[in-house]
Amino acid sequence: MSLINKNTPQKLVKSLLSRCHQAKRTTFNATTTSNLTPAPQPVVATTSHNGDKIFEVEDTKSLFASVATGKLMHTAATLNVTAVEPVVDLSIWMMNSRLMEVGLVQKAVMGTIKHTVYNHFVAGSDTVETGQTVRRLWDCGLRGMLDYGLEHASDNESCDKVTQQLIKTAESTQSLPTSSVSFVVVKVTAVCPVNLLRRVSDLLRWEYKNSSFKLPWKLKTLPIFCDNSPFYHALQQPAALTAEEEHDLELAHQRLQFVCDKSFEGNVPVVIDAEDTSIQPAIDYMTYWACVKYNELQRPMIFGTIQAYLKDAGERMYLTKKAADKMGLPVGFKLVRGAYMSSERKLARSLGVESPIHDTISGTHDCFNGCATFMLDEVSNRPGGLILATHNLDSGKMAARKAREYGITKDSEKLEFASLYGMADAMTFGLRNAGFSVSKYLPFGPVDQIMPYLLRRAEENKGLLSSSNLDRQLMMNELKRRTKAYFGQGVRESDNQFKQEANSMTN
Ligand SMILES: Cc1cc2nc3c(=O)[nH]c(=O)nc-3n(C[C@H](O)[C@H](O)[C@H](O)COP(=O)(O)OP(=O)(O)OC[C@H]3O[C@@H](n4cnc5c(N)ncnc54)[C@H](O)[C@@H]3O)c2cc1C
Repeated sequence: MSLINKNTPQKLVKSLLSRCHQAKRTTFNATTTSNLTPAPQPVVATTSHNGDKIFEVEDTKSLFASVATGKLMHTAATLNVTAVEPVVDLSIWMMNSRLMEVGLVQKAVMGTIKHTVYNHFVAGSDTVETGQTVRRLWDCGLRGMLDYGLEHASDNESCDKVTQQLIKTAESTQSLPTSSVSFVVVKVTAVCPVNLLRRVSDLLRWEYKNSSFKLPWKLKTLPIFCDNSPFYHALQQPAALTAEEEHDLELAHQRLQFVCDKSFEGNVPVVIDAEDTSIQPAIDYMTYWACVKYNELQRPMIFGTIQAYLKDAGERMYLTKKAADKMGLPVGFKLVRGAYMSSERKLARSLGVESPIHDTISGTHDCFNGCATFMLDEVSNRPGGLILATHNLDSGKMAARKAREYGITKDSEKLEFASLYGMADAMTFGLRNAGFSVSKYLPFGPVDQIMPYLLRRAEENKGLLSSSNLDRQLMMNELKRRTKAYFGQGVRESDNQFKQEANSMTN
């Protein structure tokens, strides 16, 4: 039976699937392709091909109107420092070196980090500080996605501890302004030991490839593979789960359930992050189990994550969506490009197998934009949701234009644009000014705990081609404009503005 819903334009489905196949074809032909360097960020172009302005990032005055000059200077300075590659490389080397075992060095380094990148990229050390950040964002017309920043728990005891923090996080949303928190973020690696996720992923892979192989513990879920998915992680039949492992898996389901229940008390949906392919099948399995359990209403309360850099992303997303449609379940996806490219490629290379990542960056861009178009079309006239999690201006503009075309409004709660706290502020404000619902993803936690996250951000922001380049340029332009306005003809105008800013800084 066809999986294609009669309401889905054939053209769109064909285009999504052809993108997947095109990507596959590229793989076979790509032995000579060596262009793995990220393409430069597009030059600021605010007009679409047909000339309409979808959102504005040139008018820095209106873009940064809600940002105080002091904050703007601090942000521009931090982004400029994190763009200097030798500084970032030295910091990363220092963080991983044995020098950090020397008490004084550690104290000095942590202190510097706390007052620079930590303050810039992290929303607070606990739910109270993060709540203050949420209120500030809410006053600027933005929402927050709360992400308790602990990654990879190794045993049940640490999972229990993190679960308590996640429950506290979900609870904290109830004392914040209604709708100011768009999502509570959950990493399955924080509620289930990583080794178990690896074992479950291998078993799920084996089951998909061998229809006679049964998993007695498997609960109702949605499709997590397609024929094009990577299966090289499990080359031999994995041993069945032991009684203890089955029990641990049950505990992990319970932990996820506790967090979801608490979050739904405040009517806040949950989004589950994606990680690397060695454990992602188990993450998807638990995510879609939760979808089946909770997504019975018109609005999805559980969102999974699709990484468009994977060659099988489009096809998998399509199969999951269509299976959910058949069950009458509204599903929501967070769409990202993906953050584990180097390790995925390295693993594939070491095993001598084809990389699961698109061979070129344009393959990833096409897949991302294709998946976004597919989902926007799907949710335009049916229940479902899409979080467009990106800093890429072209993808942002494309999705904003499509959303307008499909008549998806802010009130429909079907589309949320999202970017990381401290990044892509120009795009954030541009989308907000254009009337879209926009969230900042807010990692929080004590400085030592959040270090892996900070190191990833430092790596991502370094160099002139990084995605923060546009922000740096626009912020510098705005600071120049404000300085000119203050010393030039606009003294009166900027005087008022400076007074307002002084107030906002002291609040
Ligand atoms: C709100 C939010 C939530 C996120 N959640 C997750 C998550 O759950 N899981 C996760 O894995 N990531 C997550 N990310 C990170 C995300 O996957 C990206 O790493 C990051 O956002 C950069 O992608 P971009 O869409 O902003 O695009 P851009 O700024 O255009 O960046 C593109 C980047 O993609 C990389 N790239 C991808 N494919 C290729 C390729 N084939 N060849 C060369 N380079 C390639 C390059 O490094 C390049 O720099 C999240 C990001 C955001 C904003």
